[in-house]
Amino acid sequence: MNCYNHADQTSVSQCRDCNKGLCDYCAHFYQIPLCISCNKLHIDFEKGKIKKEFLWTLVLGIIPAAAMFILLIGSIPPDKTINDVLLRTLVTFFVFAPIVPGWHALNSFGNNFKGIFLIFSLPGLFMFYILKAMVSIPVGLIALPIRFFRNTKRLKELNAIPLEYS
Ligand SMILES: [Zn+2]
Ligand SMILES: [Zn+2]
Repeated sequence: MNCYNHADQTSVSQCRDCNKGLCDYCAHFYQIPLCISCNKLHIDFEKGKIKKEFLWTLVLGIIPAAAMFILLIGSIPPDKTINDVLLRTLVTFFVFAPIVPGWHALNSFGNNFKGIFLIFSLPGLFMFYILKAMVSIPVGLIALPIRFFRNTKRLKELNAIPLEYS
């Protein structure tokens, strides 16, 4: 078999995902033997996951924060100012936004506790998710900046991976 990209070269390896023949150069283009189109799928999948996390963190923070803002802005008590409203809006954002990174952080510890709640069947599972969301808030306050930094760095790395043979 010859390399799918260099027809004159004998393949020394195969793409781990699609079994296309890879010559010595193509086989070592990435850390693991992968053709460019298969690697692009991996990259797109990972980028998609990171972008989804960014988006859900924003959405989960912004919706309650906006609701709080609208609720308060209509009738500010005489002893309060617009700054108090903005502060409460910001605090609301940081109560709800951490649920997403906190949830992800808890996932990395495994979902072992789910089994205990499943004993109580569906209502038990519902309880599990409610509790998990509540625990996600304090966990997420720490996980939010860490995951934000890590995900941003990873996105940069993914964007730097070459998708063309030089
Ligand atoms: Zn492939
Ligand atoms: Zn090749």
